[in-house]
Amino acid sequence: MAEKDVDVVVVGAGFAGMYLLHELRKQGFSSRVLEAGDDVGGTWYWNRYPGARCDIATTDYQYTWDPELLDEWQWSEKHAAQPEILRYAQYVAKKHDLYSGIDFEVRVDKAAWDDSAKKWTIHTSTGETITCRHYVMATGCLSVPKDPDIPGTDRFKGNVYVTGRWPHEGVDFTGQRVAVIGTGSSAIQSMPHIASQAKQLVVFQRTPNFSMPAFNGPQPPDRVARLKADRIAYQNEARMSPTGVPMEMATVSALAVSREEAFAMLEKSWRKGELLQIGATFTDVGINRAANEVVCDFMRSKIHEVVKDPETAETLSPRGHAYGTKRPCMDTNYFEVFNMPHVRLVDIRKKPITSITETGIDFDGESIEFDSIVYATGFDAMTGAIVNVDITGKNGLTLKKKWENGPLTYLGLTTVGFPNFYMITGPGSPSVLSNMMVSIEQHVEWIRDALVDMRDKGFETIEPTAAAEEDWRVHCTDCADITLFQDTNSWYMGANVPGKPRVLLPYIGGVGRYRRICTEAMQRGFLGFELQGNGKQQLNPGPVRLMQPDVEMMLDVMATLELPPIEAMSPAEARGFMDASATMRAPGPDVGEIVDGTFPGADGDLEYRVYRPASAGPHPVVVYYHGGGWVLGSHTSDDPLCRDLCKRADVMIISVNYRHAPEARFPAAVDDAWAALQWVAKNASVLGGKPDQIAVAGWSAGGNLAAVVAQMARDNGGPKLKGQLLLTPVTDGSRQSASYIENGEGYVLTKNVMEWFWNHYASAEDRKSVKASPLLAPSLANLPPAMIVTGQFDPLRDEGNAYAHALADAGVPVKRLQARGHIHTSITMVDMLPSGQSVRAHMASGLREFFAGE
Ligand code: NAP
Repeated sequence: MAEKDVDVVVVGAGFAGMYLLHELRKQGFSSRVLEAGDDVGGTWYWNRYPGARCDIATTDYQYTWDPELLDEWQWSEKHAAQPEILRYAQYVAKKHDLYSGIDFEVRVDKAAWDDSAKKWTIHTSTGETITCRHYVMATGCLSVPKDPDIPGTDRFKGNVYVTGRWPHEGVDFTGQRVAVIGTGSSAIQSMPHIASQAKQLVVFQRTPNFSMPAFNGPQPPDRVARLKADRIAYQNEARMSPTGVPMEMATVSALAVSREEAFAMLEKSWRKGELLQIGATFTDVGINRAANEVVCDFMRSKIHEVVKDPETAETLSPRGHAYGTKRPCMDTNYFEVFNMPHVRLVDIRKKPITSITETGIDFDGESIEFDSIVYATGFDAMTGAIVNVDITGKNGLTLKKKWENGPLTYLGLTTVGFPNFYMITGPGSPSVLSNMMVSIEQHVEWIRDALVDMRDKGFETIEPTAAAEEDWRVHCTDCADITLFQDTNSWYMGANVPGKPRVLLPYIGGVGRYRRICTEAMQRGFLGFELQGNGKQQLNPGPVRLMQPDVEMMLDVMATLELPPIEAMSPAEARGFMDASATMRAPGPDVGEIVDGTFPGADGDLEYRVYRPASAGPHPVVVYYHGGGWVLGSHTSDDPLCRDLCKRADVMIISVNYRHAPEARFPAAVDDAWAALQWVAKNASVLGGKPDQIAVAGWSAGGNLAAVVAQMARDNGGPKLKGQLLLTPVTDGSRQSASYIENGEGYVLTKNVMEWFWNHYASAEDRKSVKASPLLAPSLANLPPAMIVTGQFDPLRDEGNAYAHALADAGVPVKRLQARGHIHTSITMVDMLPSGQSVRAHMASGLREFFAGE
């Protein structure tokens, strides 16, 4: 007799429900697992269409929690087919006696939180009522097929098939006239099989998709070898990777290499036959449209190579969306199908379906009769299965109502107003943007650990705080904002279901980062949660996440490269290293004109580079000093930033070189910076600028020089500057501020690197000079208006802020911009870190304001 009151009710017996059941039992929790199907397997139980296969290689798409399985279960292929994956699920269920803990052919209709009993009441399709302390939806992300929303679907008298609900006995299409509607993963996988049987096949395509061949075969020997050699290391690498699959990380922008090189690199990725490899070829495929377009071009060229009729090839070639923003597909001979004489492609964007009829499909003035129609039209993804159950939380609030404008969760695991309610791979977690097996295991383990911890400490309920949920929403939005996803109508965005709120449903910050956040939340005393029970309360409101996601991603990539520390290099080595790094970055936007030249420095000629806007001049002039700790860099080393500022602010930027330490120590750089300003002031008109509209700008050590020459201009009779734009400037040689301690390690510019710079540049005594530490100036009055930008995770943050405050105290108009979640170098990474865009837009408007009204 099944228990009516248990610790945990779990809905779904796919890979998530199965593992959770195993863990709950192990920890001594009573449970009921309720499953609508008549067997385990979840998605692999329902999706039995011909050709259904996992797009993630079997080395990576398998449980890790039972290491014996690695030897017991031999996968026959690199990409396992649905029957084999289902057999695997059944094998595990038998081995671990999971069948005995699962009620099959039972649906949950309703679940309601009883706040007085602190329990959930669950109503099932069999009329049973179960109460439980904790309620877990392990219902999968793609489990509710969406309504095909085509007129006349109920009229057709022939055979109707839905890929996500395929008959268990299979379908033989031999000799049939078949229509397939949809060209997503399910259609792309099933099409070659259907085409090989059908007498006639018509494919109705609304949006073409990117697909690459799976090159299926035996498991890749290199991956198997790595897995077998050190299972733990391999699986940990998967867990901490961006997507849940161990993979080489890209280090170069698609825009930093020639098209030929880019295509050669993409070809290499293509040959691997791994779903995530193409998108991981370059650092910026997911965030930069131009970089993404390189990949799109490559993918389209592949379609044209295979499909013989150029018009059909073009119809099959995606043009309207960025690669990866709709789930890319893997196929075996998909595009080849369209070379078969009995296969026809109908582009329903040009020839819309008017109606399904009793005998076939009417479209664009044509009627075609069919024996079978296959709907491969997708799913109400991520939220469909959850809100399909009538779930009522505290104060009568239903989840459907709460989520009517889009799902709100904390960590994609929990949601405010619904205590002791958990989702496995829910919206707001990496889920469908990851290897599901890795994400499932992580969620199951998090829930298990939370339950154990609560039990140990005597807590009965756990609920996220509203602040934590809001923080998570902001973080998810920060992540989504830097990607190209939001420009595409995809099921990731809920856009495939009419009326569904348009929001990026999965968390796109990466599997490893997400795991760290969840672990941190638990380790820091359930950060963002309120726990109650037995007269006790524990409230730990947050904050949750601070760093900009793209900045953190970059740091992750850098960590994998194990770069040598700058301070361990000689200046010559460090310069070589910086030059090599610069070749991998994106070049920055085009400007009207770039001209190089020389000017008289304090001790001989030095180089400059002028960036002129495309608009008609003369333009206001900004004398720009590059970063590099007075040791590294040149007038061209901040090229992308200079281009960006020139374009955004419509000003002329003159980036000037100066002598570097240790060959030329302090005050050589200052003398040259000052000489440059005077020379520009004299020659502004000749250079195409407005002589009475000059400002200075600089980054880091260049910000230091800009601040110093602004003081010198004030004290030495001009030029009269319109403003000073200081980006994460060095202003104080004492290096005593709190940000040196908080941010001294791990954020590219480290405390040790700064020390190395200072040691090369200036003696302890020299650092006290106002020409090295402009913050020490006895007076900052009458300096030009300033804009000072500091990064939250920069060791120099506090000295930048201190300078801003000191200027303001002296009566100088100051705009201070604290770049949330940024490090010292990130704001300059034009076209590589999108989160810096808004900061640079502010910097540009700061520059415009310097010159406004003139
Ligand atoms: P899908 O990717 O959403 O594709 C549905 C297709 O049907 C799209 O081409 C869509 O066009 C079209 N469609 C939808 N409504 C339509 C309508 N009213 N009229 C005409 N066309 C319509 O669904 P799916 O192929 O089932 O795949 C869903 C997801 O499941 C995949 O993206 C993947 O994540 C997962 N999946 C994985 C595997 C695997 O790992 N091997 C296999 C299958 C599925 P639009 O694009 O214009 O909306």
